Amino acid sequence: MSQPVYHGKDNYLGMISGTIYLQRKNLLNTMLNTQYDYKKSYMYVIDQHNRIIFHPDKNRIGEKIVNNTGLDYINQHKNGSIRLKNSLGIDNLAGFAHIPSVNWIVISQQPTDALLAQAHTLLFKVSVGIFIFYLFIFLLVWWISNFISSPLNRLAKMASMLNQHDIQDKIKKVDPWYFEVLKFRTSLLLSSENFRNRITELKQHVNTDPLTGLYNRRGMEVFLKELVNTQTAFAALAIDIDFFKKINDQYGHDQGDVVLKTLAQIMQTNFREHDICCRSGGEEFLVLMTTADPLVAHKAAERLRLTMQDNQINQMGQITISIGIAFWPKDAVDVAAVLKIADNKLYEAKHSGRNCIRSTVKSSA
Ligand code: GH3
Ligand code: MG
Ligand code: MG
Repeated sequence: MSQPVYHGKDNYLGMISGTIYLQRKNLLNTMLNTQYDYKKSYMYVIDQHNRIIFHPDKNRIGEKIVNNTGLDYINQHKNGSIRLKNSLGIDNLAGFAHIPSVNWIVISQQPTDALLAQAHTLLFKVSVGIFIFYLFIFLLVWWISNFISSPLNRLAKMASMLNQHDIQDKIKKVDPWYFEVLKFRTSLLLSSENFRNRITELKQHVNTDPLTGLYNRRGMEVFLKELVNTQTAFAALAIDIDFFKKINDQYGHDQGDVVLKTLAQIMQTNFREHDICCRSGGEEFLVLMTTADPLVAHKAAERLRLTMQDNQINQMGQITISIGIAFWPKDAVDVAAVLKIADNKLYEAKHSGRNCIRSTVKSSA
């Protein structure tokens, strides 16, 4: 290396020159030979004649570079980066910088494969990390939303099951830990209460006769089934008002209705609570007495007959009833047959002059 020395602008004084022994320990070695060997990266220096003046592989120092596909580009641009094939034919990514004072170029190179492998590993690691992070966030959000929505979800399901008998207990079990659930739970409890009342009311309506308040045929069927299922012996009392047509004709239909209502009231006071009083048809009534004793049934029937006979309704004169009695299961195993027999006995009473009782069992009372 040499450098001219001037005094002022034009006064040439002489020249300083020095020698760097490239193969020995020198300034370049000290500066550049630090371990850059990370993932096969390395650094070398070339002079203006493309001669290698520093290389980690000492054997290559002094060698002139040929067959490097990036060399022209490096010489033209002085500073920058390029993808090239080095003299060994290996694909590399290189960065380079020109040192103007000595006209050298420092080049840092790394095989593309090594760099990309490194990038791929990094990308993979980052992707896995991001995936795990989002999975965790997703599970956390899912768990929290589930925790918040689960009481509402349970209540919503119960809203369509208000007809279940234990639904109120189920609703009460839902913990109202925030305002909306508390509101929903309260209104659902109210609804189910309402629903229950309406059902009871409806059952009542369906099974009772609006004029007399007694059970209608439907209600009667329910009780008949119940009596048979529980094997409870009963007496069926078929009751019919005597000459009711005449009452209607003489006093009008409204007064006829009054008679029906009065008889119903008398029946309800005459029989015991667990005897079932029904209006089986227009002016026909049926009582299911839960007794197997013919005498008890006969006495109750007689009491009713007498009360009716002695009762004055709106100055309509004496109004009487006839009664036919049959027993289940004594008279027939089939309930419908027992009712038919009671009906036959009623007609018997009618033919015997009315205002009397006829039973399948002769009674001494
Ligand atoms: P019998 O002594 O043979 O029973 O004579 P009856 O006139 O009572 O004859 P029947 O039992 O056949 O009479 C039924 C009458 O009951 C016919 C109908 O006008 C009357 N009736 C049926 N349903 C009602 C009702 O809801 N209200 C009133 N006022 N009358 C009714
Ligand atoms: Mg009749
Ligand atoms: Mg009649």
